Amino acid sequence: MRLQAKELLALQALDTEIGKLHAEVGTLEKGERVERALAQRQARLEQAAAKVHALEVDQRNTELELRSLEEKRHDASQVLYSGRIKNPRELQALELEVVSLDRQRQRLDETILRRMDELETARKAVETAAASAEEAEKALRVLRRRYERDVARIDDALGEKQPARERLAAEIAADILRRYDDLRRRNHNVGAVRVENGACAGCRMKIGSAVIRRLLAADQYVYCESCSRYLFQSEE
Ligand SMILES: [Zn+2]
Repeated sequence: MRLQAKELLALQALDTEIGKLHAEVGTLEKGERVERALAQRQARLEQAAAKVHALEVDQRNTELELRSLEEKRHDASQVLYSGRIKNPRELQALELEVVSLDRQRQRLDETILRRMDELETARKAVETAAASAEEAEKALRVLRRRYERDVARIDDALGEKQPARERLAAEIAADILRRYDDLRRRNHNVGAVRVENGACAGCRMKIGSAVIRRLLAADQYVYCESCSRYLFQSEE
């Protein structure tokens, strides 16, 4: 009986590579974290823009209010200095109105000035938020490109290795292959190993002398007494 040691170990080497490629796909950074950061930053940008908009609306309203106040004051002072009103009480009432309108105008002026400051701050916040969102977008684009490139590279490698694996598997006797695949599925993708430094390379248990003798005879398949994997002689 010829042992298919070379074939089984070659198949194991391929299966190990294929297993690593599949595992690598699972570890690839898809950018979820950056996606979440981007969503947060976009929300902040929208909030900041909404604040600017609200301040602009308020400012326009205050300016309109100021304009109508100024018209009112202009009319009142015209009447006041026209000499048309002789009644001192009426005159005094009108004077008081002008004073009151001046006070109101001063308050509106102050409001407008304060709001200009607020608007400047709010517009700066929009710029900052926009830059921060853009930065996250850029990072996400880079991550996605890298992810796609890595997936394509892994797909290419799997596309080469999978057919090679099938060709090699076809050379191995069906019952041997079945046992190997079964062992591999149950034992972290490893079904066939060599002896390394007197131990099973799969489970690291020392190999007994009886097993060594059977390995040297090389006339039948030998399995590790501890992990049941196919066991083959060390390379030297
Ligand atoms: Zn073992």
